[in-house]
Amino acid sequence: MAVTLGRRLSAAVVSAVVIGLAVPGRGEILRISEPRPVVDSAPGLKAVLDPAVVRQGGYAVLTVTGTGGRMKGTADALGLEISLYPAPGGLRALVPVPLTTKRGRHRIQVIVGNLEARVFMTVARRPVRPMRHIRGLIVSPEKAEALRTDKGKLGRILSRESAEALWSAVLRRPVPGPVTAEFGVPRSYGGGAGWVHKGVDVPMPRNWPVIAPTGGTVRLAKLMGSYGNIIVVDHGQGVFTTYLHLRSMLVEPGVRVEAGQVIGTVGATGMATGPHLHFGVFMHRVAVDPVEFLTRGLP
Ligand SMILES: [Zn+2]
Repeated sequence: MAVTLGRRLSAAVVSAVVIGLAVPGRGEILRISEPRPVVDSAPGLKAVLDPAVVRQGGYAVLTVTGTGGRMKGTADALGLEISLYPAPGGLRALVPVPLTTKRGRHRIQVIVGNLEARVFMTVARRPVRPMRHIRGLIVSPEKAEALRTDKGKLGRILSRESAEALWSAVLRRPVPGPVTAEFGVPRSYGGGAGWVHKGVDVPMPRNWPVIAPTGGTVRLAKLMGSYGNIIVVDHGQGVFTTYLHLRSMLVEPGVRVEAGQVIGTVGATGMATGPHLHFGVFMHRVAVDPVEFLTRGLP
């Protein structure tokens, strides 16, 4: 928009100069022979989304070029205000699609300094799965309270983003087993209230090593009421991974981890019916499908 306005103004200035100015009362035209050059200094901001069609619970890579060397910007996408971070050739952001986003076309507004650009995303429906009843795990009022407390604490950690991307394009699976509880499935506990599953569950023998899928910084390694022993790894630029119900935690907050490094072992701490890894992925505080994350990787 800034670019268009700039061009319009330039055109107006040039025409005024070329046509000349009438001097009232004398009927003469005063001509200025040399039109002053008006340089449009605002470069053309361009935003590209890959892919342009994303499923609920998925994510896209937003690449912004023509930023004129600016190092910061924001994207207003799906009700989220997302920070843009430096990337080769311009700025970049991972745009997560919350499970609750309505299907259809959504406009993404990009703002870099006084420049604006827009791009459109089509959100496709994620197949609806039937409610899964978890027996043998009754959520008492105390447990429900512990869940709320843990969620609040995790939310605060996820909101502190770091600018440097510590990831590599190809990601490793934290544990090798198959996923038995998918992402985005609604659940009920002991026939009572439930939540949507915001990660995947992979049953593994107790004490099985859990590895970091890619580089990052440990932000949390703590025993919590419902999550049990939880590790949160910050991979930079708003991307975090979480590991719940661990038996042991082998890293401390603040330490850097590399891809493939053992960070803990599988357990059944907190609200769990048996030994398994609950693996979660968050982008700008929004939970995305860990299977898609591990398969597609990062830019
Ligand atoms: Zn789980």
